[in-house]
Amino acid sequence: LLQYIPPSPEELKPRPPVITVMGHVDHGKTTLLDAIRKTDVASKEAGGITQHIGAYTVKLEDGRTLTFIDTPGHEAFTSMRARGAQVTDIVILVVAADDGVMEQTKEAIEHAKAAKVPIVVAINKIDKPEANPERVKSQLAELGLIPEEWGGDTLMANISARNKIGINELLELVLLQAEMLELKAAYDRPARGRIIESKLDKGRGPVATVLVQEGTLKEGDIFVAGLTYGRVRAMFDSYGKRVKEVTPSMPVEVLGFEELPQAGDDFIVLDSEEKAKKIAEYRQRKAREAETAKEAKISLEKLFEKLKEGELKELNIVLKADTQGTLEALQASLLKLSTDKVKVNIIRAGIGAISESDVMLASASNAIVIGFNVKPSSQARDLAKKERVDIKFYDVIYQLTDDVKKAMAGLLEPEIVEEIKGLAEVRAIFKIPKVGVVAGCYVKEGVINRNYNVRVIRDGVVVYTGKIASLRRFKEDVKEVAAGYECGVRIEGFNDIKEGDLLETFELKKVSQEL
Ligand code: GDP
Repeated sequence: LLQYIPPSPEELKPRPPVITVMGHVDHGKTTLLDAIRKTDVASKEAGGITQHIGAYTVKLEDGRTLTFIDTPGHEAFTSMRARGAQVTDIVILVVAADDGVMEQTKEAIEHAKAAKVPIVVAINKIDKPEANPERVKSQLAELGLIPEEWGGDTLMANISARNKIGINELLELVLLQAEMLELKAAYDRPARGRIIESKLDKGRGPVATVLVQEGTLKEGDIFVAGLTYGRVRAMFDSYGKRVKEVTPSMPVEVLGFEELPQAGDDFIVLDSEEKAKKIAEYRQRKAREAETAKEAKISLEKLFEKLKEGELKELNIVLKADTQGTLEALQASLLKLSTDKVKVNIIRAGIGAISESDVMLASASNAIVIGFNVKPSSQARDLAKKERVDIKFYDVIYQLTDDVKKAMAGLLEPEIVEEIKGLAEVRAIFKIPKVGVVAGCYVKEGVINRNYNVRVIRDGVVVYTGKIASLRRFKEDVKEVAAGYECGVRIEGFNDIKEGDLLETFELKKVSQEL
């Protein structure tokens, strides 16, 4: 039903770039987006009244146009990507010239790189006496963003978003970067695009902003969008003006959805309402099935399959470890595994518990998450479930490299897989003379069985792995305790347990090799 014929080269015409602003909190993303919006000449023609629809376009004096996504930061960018939507052509990375490169600056670079989107740097707040743009440049150079004047290929502008200094120069650099990308789209065909934002409006029903990426969207067009469908009743641009036709790279607010679509959903114009409805219903059914099957969207096993079929050329990895030393050792040995056919790509390497940001980055980039002696935080655990991202755990280096090596060869599945059985939270500690320390636990998920292996997790880091010495409920020795119940656990050879620790039980299973 959804056949897509890519446009021929003759159909393609230049289109404006779509830009997302990223950077550390308080470095001036919002101020910059406001300053840029004020340079728009079309806004003056429209009477200066602008609407917030999630994206806006800016027209320069000479008629050149740029589109900006109005939600700054890498969270929105990456959650869109996790839904399969790549709308951004260029990232403007804002770095405050006084603070310099911070944690979220690094994250933003990782997210943009993983998406293979070029970065133009805006060194902001140069009006401040403490501003030190040269220091920012050398910090960025260390992260691989080398300024042009130092022989690299990253465009950088010094600006003051607040005082509106350097804004035009920045936009010139963005347009220069866009020129190099030779952005093109077909205009004369049914529209395709992405949902940028959506809301339920009291008077108007479901309303969503669509970024048109190809073709021309017209009033009256029938469409499918994610799990829903509809007909374009009316369209409004970012000045609130009603429009009849919308061309590539232009955002527009659309009325006429049956139900509310989600940011990141696709938007495809079709020739019949019957077809649109059928596709939406089919997609709803598929989504329900995937939900009930709880099938992982990304798992090492899935990637094994893809590698085997030659579908995958890069193995993306988000790597977290407990210490800097291990992290460096792991990075070195993983990178060495790259072959001519498959490249190992470590898109993030960091220390500490696996975070929500790690999960989102993995989900967006089809990456596996590997925790070396570290586990996800409870929020990250929930998010991984929702995003259906599999998290692999290792505590022996050669086992990790062995598994990856096998995956790369596209040959063997892992020989031993770990099955997580249950999770309990330590709520109280009892010191019992001659016996040892007993942890009063509440079982949160699955089961705790006396025969399972157990791992003690503190702030995401695995502090001990061993066996259960005794499992009790009300002074009775028991074999197993299920979720929702409390129990007392003593761990063999480990008395350093603390309140708030998590106990994870697991079994190791040997997988038969069928070749
Ligand atoms: P965001 O969190 O990155 O969106 O940052 P904001 O745009 O909200 O800016 C954070 C703070 O920095 C605000 O108080 C701004 O007024 C201030 N700020 C932004 N740009 C500049 C600038 O160019 N110069 C100075 N001095 N302050 C700025």
